[in-house]
Amino acid sequence: MSFVEIVVLAGGVGGARFLTGLREVAPPSSVTAVVNTGDDVTMHGLRICPDLDTVVYTLGGGIDPERGWGRAGESWTVKEELAAYGAEPTWFGLGDRDLATHLVRTRMLDAGYPLSDVTAALADRWQPGVTVLPMSDQRVETHVVVDDPATGRRTAVHFQEWWVRHRAEPQAHAFVQVGAEQARPAPGVVEALARADAVVLAPSNPVVSVGTILGVPGLRDALLATPGRVVGISPVVDGGVVRGMADRCLPVLGVEVSAEGVGRHYGARSDGGLLDAWLVHTGDPAQVPGVDVRAVPLLMSSPEATAAMARAALDAAGVRLDG
Ligand code: GDP
Ligand code: CA
Repeated sequence: MSFVEIVVLAGGVGGARFLTGLREVAPPSSVTAVVNTGDDVTMHGLRICPDLDTVVYTLGGGIDPERGWGRAGESWTVKEELAAYGAEPTWFGLGDRDLATHLVRTRMLDAGYPLSDVTAALADRWQPGVTVLPMSDQRVETHVVVDDPATGRRTAVHFQEWWVRHRAEPQAHAFVQVGAEQARPAPGVVEALARADAVVLAPSNPVVSVGTILGVPGLRDALLATPGRVVGISPVVDGGVVRGMADRCLPVLGVEVSAEGVGRHYGARSDGGLLDAWLVHTGDPAQVPGVDVRAVPLLMSSPEATAAMARAALDAAGVRLDG
């Protein structure tokens, strides 16, 4: 039994790396990660959950550390063979090892198991230490409203197509969560928030990772009602995103690409927003009214730096751990 309960809202790479640090400074059994599934997509008949896989592979030691996603020691034979057939889509990186995960997941989903059970089954192999929950068992898929280059008309494409195929180049007009009305938080999510001593918004994409999680009906309310302190970590460092394309997402919501901009977007809990505390990178003069803003090193450049960042988040949450 652990004496603290920590909930982390996480996307893929930023969320996963933060969790590796948190696992060093808090008992892993005290941590529940609620992971974005808005990036999920079906391709070649397979259900793919990029952020869940990034989190589980990273914590389980199976991640490709350079790419930050997919399996280490990956080969691409199936992808090449699919391309030789002209089987679309050819732009999605489907590795051979990764494919086994998608096969197991798809088979279990087809047999009627909810995604949360499937995720637990996959975690049996990887032993991430922390509890990994999808944000929802229902399908919620982020679509991006863009101009169709052929017709000039507005159209919506799946987030993966915009992000991976088009490198987030086409101007996004809006992000839409298809299926959100029918979605509920996955089993365990509301319960974990209701007993949390601390909730951490990982340094994940505020729009298409954290924002998508908070868009699941009931989840934001559960977060607002948590007895724990809510601490956010800025994914924006020195006025830019550390990696990824959040700088293509934030302006769509009218949010400035700065730690202050993201902090104000999340808002002060005392003022109807989310945050009790907000971590920004050392030297950042960000201010968010009503929020305890702390400047600490926020680059997860080594296991030690990542652990120190996690410790700073727990400090800001007022969580004291022995030892
Ligand atoms: P994705 O789903 O794989 O795109 O990953 P996330 O949504 O979890 O995280 C993407 C965000 O992580 C980007 O906006 C990055 O700026 C942020 N990020 C990545 N590495 C670091 C880091 O070392 N420090 C901080 N503060 N943010 C980071
Ligand atoms: Ca993602």
